[in-house]
Amino acid sequence: MGILTALTVVFVPGGDAFGYRFFWRTVDDAPLPVAADASRWDPAVWGPGRTLHFVVADSPGWTEPWEDARGEEHDPPFATAEDVIPFARRALAVWSAPPSTDIQWSVAGVGGELHAERDHVNAIRMHPFGHGTSYADIWDRNGVIVECDVSLNPRHTRDLDGAALEVLIHEFGHCLGLAHSAPFPTWDTWGWCRGLEPALWDTDPVMSYGYLPEPGLTEDDLIGASLLRPAPGWLDRVGSIAGQVTVGGRAARYVPVFATRISGEEVVASANTFTNGEGFFAIEGLSPGGYLLAAGAMGDIDGNSSLVDRGATLGSTDQYLLDPVRVVAGQETRAPPIPLREGREASPFRRE
Ligand SMILES: [Zn+2]
Repeated sequence: MGILTALTVVFVPGGDAFGYRFFWRTVDDAPLPVAADASRWDPAVWGPGRTLHFVVADSPGWTEPWEDARGEEHDPPFATAEDVIPFARRALAVWSAPPSTDIQWSVAGVGGELHAERDHVNAIRMHPFGHGTSYADIWDRNGVIVECDVSLNPRHTRDLDGAALEVLIHEFGHCLGLAHSAPFPTWDTWGWCRGLEPALWDTDPVMSYGYLPEPGLTEDDLIGASLLRPAPGWLDRVGSIAGQVTVGGRAARYVPVFATRISGEEVVASANTFTNGEGFFAIEGLSPGGYLLAAGAMGDIDGNSSLVDRGATLGSTDQYLLDPVRVVAGQETRAPPIPLREGREASPFRRE
């Protein structure tokens, strides 16, 4: 390990660093925009300080039996479409509660039986198949978001009082403009072999398919949301870290970089980003303080397949910089280079 010094420079927006958590203007999830270049809501549709309304679509599926992937039939998820409203409100409130965000959104009630096409109504729908996934359709006009429809898979309605609420929270995160972030570099994200988690890492971000013990957000999710819709003054109170990751002397493409805030001897919280195609990264929205940086092979190939398609570096060791990098409000701190070695292949987990 070389000499690890961090040089503080004044933040230059739109520099050579890229972040990841956001959709690009094409409402695709690549290349990797910094917050300033992320797709945001059309201010005419959802301006600062305004409330965005959703309706629960009167999809027949809410109140009809459904069949899972094995052909097994299940009872209707709800007695009426109105019964969905409290869960939708609870999931939306998770994003609107933090004081660092300017997010106000509501569920206006049950609307008509809305379909997938853009119709200027933000809808929460029941997706008719029990063997797919839940998803968000984000509609844009010239790169600005004008509508979002969330389709919930019936199998995700079975535990909306518990873990499945996280699915709704995740889809609403996409509606905000958040793409998938990276799970932390522990063994597995589904609750197995997580011995190191409490000691070093946060729970995986909701936007990386993490499940929290109680429905909520991790620091990483919260930073992404706050960067997209910051509360007045918040951006002045945070800073960023930018740098470059290499593997075998070449750019490490689309590898996750983790910044873990420390306080004295203790770790507090972590946030992550991905490098761009040249190995550059920027982690924005960080509270002032000392951060340990780590980088390594991608842990979730399924969740970030667009980055794999663009040639992400998949074979590398993890690297940890043990000398903290200091974040100062309103500034970008240049991190020392993070050199990875070729070696370990990414070990993806597979979803159903
Ligand atoms: Zn997702």
